Amino acid sequence: IERTLSIIKPDATKRNLTGKINAKFEEAGLRIVAQKRIRLTKEQAGKFYEVHKERPFYDELCEFMASGPVVVQVLEGENAVAKNREVMGATNPADAAEGTIRKEFALSVGENSVHGSDSAENAAKEIAFFFSDLEIV
Ligand code: ATP
Ligand code: MG
Repeated sequence: IERTLSIIKPDATKRNLTGKINAKFEEAGLRIVAQKRIRLTKEQAGKFYEVHKERPFYDELCEFMASGPVVVQVLEGENAVAKNREVMGATNPADAAEGTIRKEFALSVGENSVHGSDSAENAAKEIAFFFSDLEIV
């Protein structure tokens, strides 16, 4: 059993899509074992996405992630990291497979509705960024 960090991004909370998105995770066999709705400052978003600091879209990404509420959550299940990314679909909704969250809901490569950890190692770091062990049940 594995855990991964998921974020429902501001474009999706704004359009009231939290329930529809989480239904996709649950239907895929992932369980939400921690969850909170928060608003990040640009600085906090910058720290979370620090790995992308040299990428040209970094500033835009941090502004966007701070532009409204996000739902941060821990998903648990068999191969949760890979399964989450499969359910999310490709970064750019134009490339995302039918039935994926990004295909159905994302607006653009930037405003793409969800984040998911890309490795078990990063999942552990990202979960610890938002949650203490006591909050994961
Ligand atoms: P995430 O890390 O959010 O799950 P990802 O792993 O599919 O997405 P990354 O390459 O890690 O994609 O990029 C992180 C985020 O930065 C993307 O989800 C998207 O919001 C934004 N982003 C990526 N590429 C671009 C781009 N070319 N223009 C604008 N924003 C981008
Ligand atoms: Mg990523």
